[in-house]
Amino acid sequence: MAACRSSVMTAHVYISTSIFLLCLSAADGRLNTGHAGVLLVERRGSYPLIDLRILKSKFKSLNVEVEAGRRKVKRQLSFQRYCHASRLLRGSVPHTPGSLHLLDDDYLGQAAHMLSKVGTWNFDIFLFDRLTNGHSLVTLMCHLFNVYGLVHHFQLDMVKLHRFLGMVQEDYHSQNPYHNAVHAADVTQAMYCYLKEPKLAEQLSPLDVFLGLMAAAAHDVDHPGVNQPFLIKTRHHLASLYQNTSVLESHHWRSTVGMLRESRLLSHLPADVSQDMEQRLGSLILATDISRQNEFLSTFREHLDNQDLDLQLASHRHFILQIALKCADVCNPCRVWEMSRQWSERVCEEFYRQGDLERKFDMEISPLCNQQADSVPAIQTGFISYIVEPLFEEWHRFTEPSPLSRTMMGHLHKNKARWSRLRHAHTPSDTQTHSQAEEPEPEGGGGEGEGEDIP
Ligand SMILES: [Zn+2]
Repeated sequence: MAACRSSVMTAHVYISTSIFLLCLSAADGRLNTGHAGVLLVERRGSYPLIDLRILKSKFKSLNVEVEAGRRKVKRQLSFQRYCHASRLLRGSVPHTPGSLHLLDDDYLGQAAHMLSKVGTWNFDIFLFDRLTNGHSLVTLMCHLFNVYGLVHHFQLDMVKLHRFLGMVQEDYHSQNPYHNAVHAADVTQAMYCYLKEPKLAEQLSPLDVFLGLMAAAAHDVDHPGVNQPFLIKTRHHLASLYQNTSVLESHHWRSTVGMLRESRLLSHLPADVSQDMEQRLGSLILATDISRQNEFLSTFREHLDNQDLDLQLASHRHFILQIALKCADVCNPCRVWEMSRQWSERVCEEFYRQGDLERKFDMEISPLCNQQADSVPAIQTGFISYIVEPLFEEWHRFTEPSPLSRTMMGHLHKNKARWSRLRHAHTPSDTQTHSQAEEPEPEGGGGEGEGEDIP
């Protein structure tokens, strides 16, 4: 956790949108026809993570690298999962004492109780993950599929559904501070809240809901914990496979398609239907590429200005689902401070780990990844100002605004002000850790509407 690290210093640097776009995902990511046409089902996997031990030799003696070494690099840099396949949920290994089935009834009872309030904005996903013994994503998705009657509507096989969801959950890297299955569960819970917005709920078809939830659950699957620029500069094979464009998002999508096919979840549907679902899932997941933020935001703004959104049209509903997923993906600053702060520290810790690796191997340190220069409060105020606030202002307008939207904006403004105060409370000579320097919440930590049940 970043809070445990010392010498988090304030960096009075100007953090522009462009730096965020560069840092979070380089290149102008668009789904090109080459990507859409890739029918290769990637081999998925969680282990090993990118093994930087071999990068040294790759960088320092790239020209003299022998073929055998090259093969080794390629193998180790891929996100293979030979040793970590989803054996448990596929039934090839016996259940262990850590299995959900052996959880104390009290825990399951509390988790079930939490699910009865899954549509509230102050839902504590960290607690829910503990109560479900790390199975928050599978448990949440099964619950939401039942709430919406999706199993019945699409005639899904429950065994296949569990197998698919288990693979998705397990292919998230639990060692990532941020991009792990809890983040996926958090985004899915937020997506559920957005799907319930009065403006949307009545208009959505079962297919819209199915794709929205599936995309949220799988949108970062097998994330390696480093960003696109890192994959490009380390010449990762995924970067060349996707031509340096939406590399991670393309990988998340193609991995999801691989798991859909492996689990045969949609195999009972006509081929054209399941292929269409795969493509639409891709369109949703690829929309989370932060480098496409301006493209989506200006289109959204235009629709709202012209008041020409017609949610009877499938294409317009799909666009709103893309926006909803983008909102869900970056909604951390709109949560109550305690949860928001945890996510902020986690994402910065992931950035810093990348920076540490880059420093260790004499690579240029990516923007926002230098713990000595980029403090958590500085990163967060920039992130809120240039990414989150502009998007949620439009979402607020779209919902006209709804009670949930007012609640989120309340948290967002308070959290932004708090990060800003923390940022200026730090000085370069400050030796306190972030947690030690933290000021008390003047108003009890909540925003307006905190604790209320959002309908
Ligand atoms: Zn995400």
